[in-house]
Amino acid sequence: MAKAAKETETVSTESKSKLDVVTGEICPVCSQKSLALTEREQEIPYFGKVFLFSMTCNGCKFHKADVECAETRESVRYSVEVSGSDDMGIRIVKSGQATVKVPYVANIEPGEASNGYVTNVEGLLQRIKKQIEVIRDTEEDQDAVQKAKSLIKKINRCVWGEEKLKIIIEDPSGNSAIISDKAAVQKLAGKASAAAEE
Ligand SMILES: [Zn+2]
Repeated sequence: MAKAAKETETVSTESKSKLDVVTGEICPVCSQKSLALTEREQEIPYFGKVFLFSMTCNGCKFHKADVECAETRESVRYSVEVSGSDDMGIRIVKSGQATVKVPYVANIEPGEASNGYVTNVEGLLQRIKKQIEVIRDTEEDQDAVQKAKSLIKKINRCVWGEEKLKIIIEDPSGNSAIISDKAAVQKLAGKASAAAEE
């Protein structure tokens, strides 16, 4: 379906979404009345309606965001091979409960500090790159710094379409997706064992 790919490129329809904001709430971290809560609805073509939530404190800079599908969904595992600059626009929905694996590069683990968001392949790679840049800039171990530098190069080459990377997203809550005809979708195996690992 070439149609799907075309549509995903024109998905800057965020203006259509409704935004609710509540300010002056009590921050769970610093206890000041400086927390802003937002809730936004977004219709994602070839996927459905999602709700985006965020908490941001103007005082201590605490920030948490997540995404939830309007429909209840099954646990899922998506994988896609990113093999050119055209693939950078593939839409990604990642919830706070998702594990993102980019083999030979990095993993994003779920947890308290894990945010949920709607992005695309390039946006996801840029987020991973930023985390690796922190290692490059703060790590004292020279081997780790070198490794970080080569991973950043690898990500850049992928963004420029010079190298292939695989992206896997596993989400027991089902609130994540890689929206592309190229993506393989299956039910996430071992849902029970994943829950028992806590
Ligand atoms: Zn705060």
